[in-house]
Amino acid sequence: PRDESATRDEPPAKKFAGDAGVIVDHYNSRPEVGVLQRQDSPIIGLKNFNNWVKSVLISKFAHPALASSTVCTQRTKGKVLDLGCGKGGDLTKWSKAKISEYAGADIAAISVEQAQERWESLRVNSRFHASFAPYDFCTQDLEDVFPSQVLAHPFDVVSSQFCIHYAFEKEETVRKMLRNVSRFLRPGGAFIGTIPNAEQLLDRLRELPPEREDLSFGNAVYKVCFETREHQGSYGHKYRFFLRDAVEDVPEFLVHWDNFVSMAAEYDLHPVYKEEFHDVFSEHQDHSDFGPLMLRMKVVDSNGESSMDEDQWEAVNIYLAFAFEKR
Ligand code: SAM
Repeated sequence: PRDESATRDEPPAKKFAGDAGVIVDHYNSRPEVGVLQRQDSPIIGLKNFNNWVKSVLISKFAHPALASSTVCTQRTKGKVLDLGCGKGGDLTKWSKAKISEYAGADIAAISVEQAQERWESLRVNSRFHASFAPYDFCTQDLEDVFPSQVLAHPFDVVSSQFCIHYAFEKEETVRKMLRNVSRFLRPGGAFIGTIPNAEQLLDRLRELPPEREDLSFGNAVYKVCFETREHQGSYGHKYRFFLRDAVEDVPEFLVHWDNFVSMAAEYDLHPVYKEEFHDVFSEHQDHSDFGPLMLRMKVVDSNGESSMDEDQWEAVNIYLAFAFEKR
């Protein structure tokens, strides 16, 4: 585990086998590009839109104001666990939400280092306390990687963006992930996230002609490739995912929503929000805060025109946003 005072003398990075190894290697090897270079991405419109959706989720369900509405920890303005924090792409959003404490964890150790560097580069007056740790939420307990002082008080929010679907390989890995989400989340706290929309991916799979052997679909921006049409059980329905300038042929697993909800209930987590990304857009485009935010985040230009082409617009709707409340 690393915190603000930790040195960089780390043991060699842990090696992962199978699909987890492919996932770790992929995310570790993606270069961290600066803000300016990021603007040159061929899918910058899609990336901006995804960031806007995450900002909407944070504002709606995880804003520190919520922390005082129910069983509040009182001392904190907002304490956040970012599970699968990646390279720290949401640190500025959390800074804007004026949180007081942040813990970032990700299976890709190099990404975690980059997230910590990004946190260090935040302006001092907008910086919150932060701890970072390389961590696999599918197999490890949170308390085995973060020091006890980080977990001494519960989190107000657990955020897991574009990553818990990696847990849906097996029931035991989903259970471990949910246990880790719920274990240190206060009652009344929020679990927010974004996942691929299984129903939509399965609809597209079923639309493929029966004689077709190549079970893939997509467009110039994304490609989904299933290994099998039919799958028994709720876990391990694997597909490979490609997203231009972001994800290179990485194994992912379908998250069947009803199963996710019933299993989450066993960990005292209950759904309060589920929306496809297109609907997040139509629900909030005229909102007094989220509408202007789209302009600031370059989701639309000053004429209200979208910065995404048709292919990017189709690709964003693979995902849905969710929020659960811990009861
Ligand atoms: N949440 C970040 C964001 O929104 O920018 C990163 C999203 S990236 C698409 C998915 C992240 O999930 C990667 O950083 C990957 O390393 C992480 N991840 C995948 N499986 C994981 C696991 N079992 N435990 C922790 N992190 C995991």
